[in-house]
Amino acid sequence: MNYMFNCEREPLALLVELTPKLAKRKYRESIYEAWNYCCGYCNKPANSLDHIIPKFHSGSSHRNNLIPACRSCNSNKASLKMEDWYRLQDFFTEEKLIKIQAWTKEDISNVLIDNSYNPQITLAM
Ligand SMILES: [Zn+2]
Repeated sequence: MNYMFNCEREPLALLVELTPKLAKRKYRESIYEAWNYCCGYCNKPANSLDHIIPKFHSGSSHRNNLIPACRSCNSNKASLKMEDWYRLQDFFTEEKLIKIQAWTKEDISNVLIDNSYNPQITLAM
């Protein structure tokens, strides 16, 4: 079945196409909301999601491993270990580090709230 050609005429095909995207958006929004749309590291407005443990180091794309980050933190941190990198920053606070570490240990069941109707969703970010 080719959705590219069918989606204009078949609402069901369109829905199949849109639902995972919507689920992914809601999932990402729930992460931004939890951090008030601020960078988890420096508190500036966040415009990306950072992998706390980089994908590179087999970090997952679960909510617990994603944190809103501003562009500068996200690109500065790159594939460094979060704690090592964060301790070197001017905006480092022990309090924030504890909050980030608590976030990474948050119960995994929270992850499934927003996309339970499509557990197969792939979160390629
Ligand atoms: Zn930042």
